[in-house]
Order: sequence, then C-alpha cells, then structure tokens
Amino acid sequence: MEIRNLVRSFGGRRVVDGVSLSIQPGQVTCLLGPSGCGKSTTLRIIAGVEMQDSGEIHVDGSLICDTRFRVPPERREIGLMFQDFALFPHLSVEGNVAYGLSGNRDEKRARVEEMLDRVRMSRFIDMFPHQLSGGEQQRIALARALAPRPRIMLMDEPFSGLDNRLRDGIRDETLAILKEEDTGVLLVTHEPEEAMRMADEIALMRNGRIVQQGAPYNVYTRPVDRASVAFFSDAN
Ligand code: ADP
Ligand code: MG
Repeated sequence: MEIRNLVRSFGGRRVVDGVSLSIQPGQVTCLLGPSGCGKSTTLRIIAGVEMQDSGEIHVDGSLICDTRFRVPPERREIGLMFQDFALFPHLSVEGNVAYGLSGNRDEKRARVEEMLDRVRMSRFIDMFPHQLSGGEQQRIALARALAPRPRIMLMDEPFSGLDNRLRDGIRDETLAILKEEDTGVLLVTHEPEEAMRMADEIALMRNGRIVQQGAPYNVYTRPVDRASVAFFSDAN
C-alpha cells in the first residue's frame, strides 16, 4: 500500500499535513507520535471512514481512493483493530470471528476453526465475550480481523486497554501471528516502547507531519531534533 500526501483539515487546522507512507506485506510500519498529532485521523482515512481533502492511496498499483474516487471501506481488504472496536457482545466467539466472512456455512466454520487454532483459542468457540479475559478478547479480536484475509491490518493503539502485566505477552503473540499470516500492518501508538518492540519501520509523526522515518534503532538513536529527543525521553 502506498499512501501519498494525505491532507485533512478540521476547522481550518491541518491535522494531517501531507502524510506519505508505504506498507509492505509481512512488515509492521508504526505510526508513532504524541496524542493529538493526527495518527487516528490518518488511519481513518486509510480505512475509508474519513475523507481526505487531498492525497491518494494505492494498493498493488491500483488506486483505492483520491478526492474523486473511493473504494468503500468494506471492499478495501483492510482489517481493523481499534481500542474501542470491541467484540460484539451478543455474538459468540464463533459468531464474532465469522462476522466478516463470505461463503457457505461449512466454509465459514472451517475458517473460524483455523483462525481460533492460530490464536490458540479453539476451546472458546461457543463462549461469549463477557466470559473471556481482556487478553482472550484481544486474541479473538485479532482472529476476527484476520479471518477475511485482509491485505493490510490497521491497528490503532490496540493494546492500550490491556493490563500492564499482559501487554508485552500479547504484543509478542500478536506480532508472531501477523508475521505468520504475512499481513502488512500499520500500527498506531503514542508509546515509543511499543514501536521499538513491534515495528520494522517507524514513522515518527508530529503536528500532522512525518518528521522522521526509518528502522526503529536509527529513529531512536538519531533523533532529528529536540522535540524528538523530548518525545522519546518524556514518554519513558
Ligand atoms: P491522535 O490519534 O494522534 O491522538 P487524532 O487524529 O485523533 O490524533 O486527532 C488529531 C487532531 O484532530 C486533534 O486535535 C483532534 O481533536 C482533531 N480532530 C480529530 N477528528 C476531528 C473531527 N472529526 N472534528 C474536529 N477535530 C477533529
Ligand atoms: Mg488516536
């Protein structure tokens, strides 16, 4: 996926100010920056639930959205994991994971079983979300997002609702599963530590712009300016 020069203003203020990014299969690109810098707006534009003022998005060389043309969200082959994008409480684990799937009942069931096996939650298939721990719900949410085989996964602070003690384990598990599926990931976070742990590539964002982009080690050890130094040290 190639994102070119996205711009979005609210009330005359450019909250996304010329963002370009590329997301590769099997790679985690992390959009890292302080609260309010425009990360979620960028993700929402890519997901197709927010409109940009200008800029384009291409997948495998074909245009999925510019200011005149727009592939609707459900046809973008994008998986979503947002902090407040919870499981459906009235659906079982099976119902949740099957939700975005097409095909007949047996095909859906087979894919649900495959995904539950992948996240090691097979024996929970008939349970309901309220019967699961936070970590277990997270795994089901991952299975649900990956079940339709999205080409790209968009994750907006997906671990921030989790207990500190669980978080590292779930981050590592999630990363391993995403790598197995070879999905390209755009992960949004305001936590440098999370970006360092999960990213293949970090895009550091501030005031709507990407101020630095590169391998985690390089971004961390060679900050481009004082604000970046402050961001990395304050946040820790
Ligand atoms: P982040 O995810 O980095 O914390 P956001 O993309 O959520 O940042 O928000 C960036 C800025 O845009 C914030 O100042 C926010 O208040 C503003 N903003 C986001 N969505 C809207 C909206 N629908 N209307 C007006 N302002 C918005
Ligand atoms: Mg946000």
